[in-house]
Amino acid sequence: LINIMNSIKRVRSNSCPGSKKVKEFIGLGADLLPSELPTLRNVLQLMLLEMESLDTNLQYVLKEIVYEAAKKSSCKIVAQYKKVNINIQIQPNHYIVQRIEKEWKRVTQTVWGRVKSSQKNKLYNEIDVLFDILRCKHIIICKEDPTCSDPKCSHSAISPTCNCPSNLKIPKIELKFIKAQRLKIGMKSVYQIHCIDKKEYTRLAKQCKRKEKPLISKN
Ligand SMILES: [Zn+2]
Ligand SMILES: [Zn+2]
Repeated sequence: LINIMNSIKRVRSNSCPGSKKVKEFIGLGADLLPSELPTLRNVLQLMLLEMESLDTNLQYVLKEIVYEAAKKSSCKIVAQYKKVNINIQIQPNHYIVQRIEKEWKRVTQTVWGRVKSSQKNKLYNEIDVLFDILRCKHIIICKEDPTCSDPKCSHSAISPTCNCPSNLKIPKIELKFIKAQRLKIGMKSVYQIHCIDKKEYTRLAKQCKRKEKPLISKN
């Protein structure tokens, strides 16, 4: 009986949980855009891509598929933020992985119609905005006009209420870029990732690769 139970519980890793309905809602699996910080939709599409590229010879249970894909996605998202500026401070990795797992669950529950319409609307409003993993959550405003909410604003930006310790503050030269990213709806902001610290980025990308060792499932 235990054997039967196990075989029911296990799925081939290339059959993503609820993938058809999820795809209808978020789109096909896709890698991150090289010049943009990801929206929640980008993160979920990356999850699909990572799930599809898991080693199909290994058998995972559903929870493991999501966890493995979330770890790989998190690594790429972190590298993307560090590409903006290596000194930018982001949330700890395990926290980002947990958040991705939570968002994945939220989307699958939504496409299966297991949530209230208010929660569904909340997801609609959040799916195309920045997946913000910055440590500093303080508001960034236009220096010329504090009420300006134009995503194309070309003025410099300030974060007047930020009282983060100096090592956690968003680097001053990135404030304008981050402000535009936080205001964008959809994939693209007018400002794109420009200054790439190539050496550091290559190091991070290599680190991502190294972490991709195959998982032997525990049970
Ligand atoms: Zn402005
Ligand atoms: Zn702050």
